[in-house]
Amino acid sequence: MEANGGLHKQRLHAVRDLLKQSGGARVLDLGCGDGKLMRMLLKESQFTEIVGMDVSQRNLDWAAERLRLTQMQAHDLRRIKLIRGSLAYRDLRLSGYDAAAMVEVIEHLDPESLSAFEGSIFEFAQPQTIIITTPNREYNVRWMSLPAGEFRHHDHRFEWTRTEFQFWSRRVADRYGYNVHFAPAGPEDPVIGAPSQIGIFSRESGTDT
Ligand code: SAH
Repeated sequence: MEANGGLHKQRLHAVRDLLKQSGGARVLDLGCGDGKLMRMLLKESQFTEIVGMDVSQRNLDWAAERLRLTQMQAHDLRRIKLIRGSLAYRDLRLSGYDAAAMVEVIEHLDPESLSAFEGSIFEFAQPQTIIITTPNREYNVRWMSLPAGEFRHHDHRFEWTRTEFQFWSRRVADRYGYNVHFAPAGPEDPVIGAPSQIGIFSRESGTDT
């Protein structure tokens, strides 16, 4: 999925730690891909239910393989679920969770799906905590092999600067009753920031929309 395996691991560790800090027990991995984050979460007893969702059946099959679902003990098998679905649709199966992670997925959404996703997750599914990571475009100058103005992955629809990501995040948070703060993912350069950026959204208590 990405050449830089070390960086991706750091990002996943950061997300796992943020999910732990959220105190949540029932968690979603939205756009779970081949299930790397789910594998990490399975090792943490705090998480009693881990649901991976992806639009790609091929990726879900990989995830099932990586997680060794067919060999899994009944106890773990009960904690884990893989479902096929799209972030662009309101989906009852995603309601009522403590936390959701969305690692390097948002930049794959076209503008229409991006605005549909805001409604389906922030307005409809409403997890208490939502952790979103996305590349920081400012950091791209550090990748020598990347021609100026190009994205890191051919399937990316956009890559945001920190200002752009924070602008989008604050707008969505204000609209749907969340607080948001930001963290770097990966080694941080004082000027251009870190390779990825993380938005941590928490639902304001007493919000009932
Ligand atoms: N979170 C994983 C995978 C990131 S790649 C990781 O960090 O390793 C992006 C993933 O988003 C792919 O698995 C892709 O199939 C999924 N995806 C893209 N558009 C989606 C949509 N509309 N709904 C759900 N998943 C989507």
